[in-house]
Amino acid sequence: MQLNVLVLPGDGIGVEVTREAVRVLKAVADSFGHSLTLNEGLLGGIAIHQRGTPIPDETKELALKADATLLGAVGLPEFDTAPPDKRPERGLLGLRKALGVYANLRPVRSYRSLLDSSPLKNELVEGVDMIIVRELTGGLYYGTPRGISGSGAEERAVNTMTYTRSEIERVAHMAFQLAGRRRKKLTSIDKSNVLENSQLWRRVVTEVGRDYPDIKLDHLLVDNCAMQLVVGPKQFDVLLTENMFGDILSDEGAVLAGSIGMLPSASIGAKAPSGAWIGLYEPVHGSAPDIAGQNKANPLGAVGSIAAMLEYSFGLTEEAIAVNFAIEEVLNSGHVPADLKPADKPASTTEVGDALCRYISERKVPV
Ligand code: NAD
Repeated sequence: MQLNVLVLPGDGIGVEVTREAVRVLKAVADSFGHSLTLNEGLLGGIAIHQRGTPIPDETKELALKADATLLGAVGLPEFDTAPPDKRPERGLLGLRKALGVYANLRPVRSYRSLLDSSPLKNELVEGVDMIIVRELTGGLYYGTPRGISGSGAEERAVNTMTYTRSEIERVAHMAFQLAGRRRKKLTSIDKSNVLENSQLWRRVVTEVGRDYPDIKLDHLLVDNCAMQLVVGPKQFDVLLTENMFGDILSDEGAVLAGSIGMLPSASIGAKAPSGAWIGLYEPVHGSAPDIAGQNKANPLGAVGSIAAMLEYSFGLTEEAIAVNFAIEEVLNSGHVPADLKPADKPASTTEVGDALCRYISERKVPV
């Protein structure tokens, strides 16, 4: 298969973790006989330095031509007080908009060797394997009217939670299709006992579900879901939720995995003519200025994002399994980066990349 990938290393540890993720992608292409075309572009603080804007037009063009984009992280302390349109983070929002991605996918899975890093009891976390699908473009964060007006006792703040049927339908179709490739269970989250917005959400998701009779659909109120994520996270396969609920629940899900350095994410939207989802893949963490340039960042979130890219944008399930298996092998070896608190000397970012490439080229895939 031809894999046409844009790499945007960004700032800080983004550069270090994407370097290892790209090595892993090359190892997968070599090992499985795929042809890989890689382009590199500027985004974030480095783009401001070199082009005067966090997202140059050439980056947008490259992203629109690619089948998938891998992003490291954006953010540099020197821009912390810059106006919003001159901040590196604006580049990320601009990129998501340019690509038209409308769903954020966060796979959350537990690794046996990291069970003790989770704040939950081992028996609750062991075997957790879910994907949280968060709608990314609607809801309370974008609805109008919004703003603060008036003064004194009458000063008033307004935000509007709004969704159209079509916005709900497209993300629901995506979530049902994902569930169809997994354990065929979809849990849709809302607050339909209070919000009309959620009543429409529940009704539309139920209607879309009729197209997917093999998927078991449940609905759960968001407050109950927050509780179930800590008392019984194993029950979930695919969780579907609107923007703000997803923002909150996905961070709750994140702690199950142990360290922020472990977490991949995918933002996907329209389908390319090939039928693949156009996607932006990135680790959940930021540019970590406190450890940047020291070769000690954990690259496994970025590498997990490669696994997500292989699966969602290229439909290469076996290759995605090989990458996830290599991650598991690194964790089992105990030679892991400092954030995972190894018993012995921590592995450097590069050493983790070396080990992953070795496992992939040896093709130690479970049968
Ligand atoms: P951060 O995720 O960069 O770092 C938080 C803490 O986690 C730090 O102590 C850091 O050392 C540690 N950490 C993060 N990733 C790690 C990894 N892979 N390996 C080991 N340790 C890791 O969050 P922050 O400090 O709040 O933000 C720093 C900058 O990143 C800011 O400019 C922020 O705006 C930006 N940011 C960008 C993104 C993104 O690009 N998607 C996301 C979050 C934050």
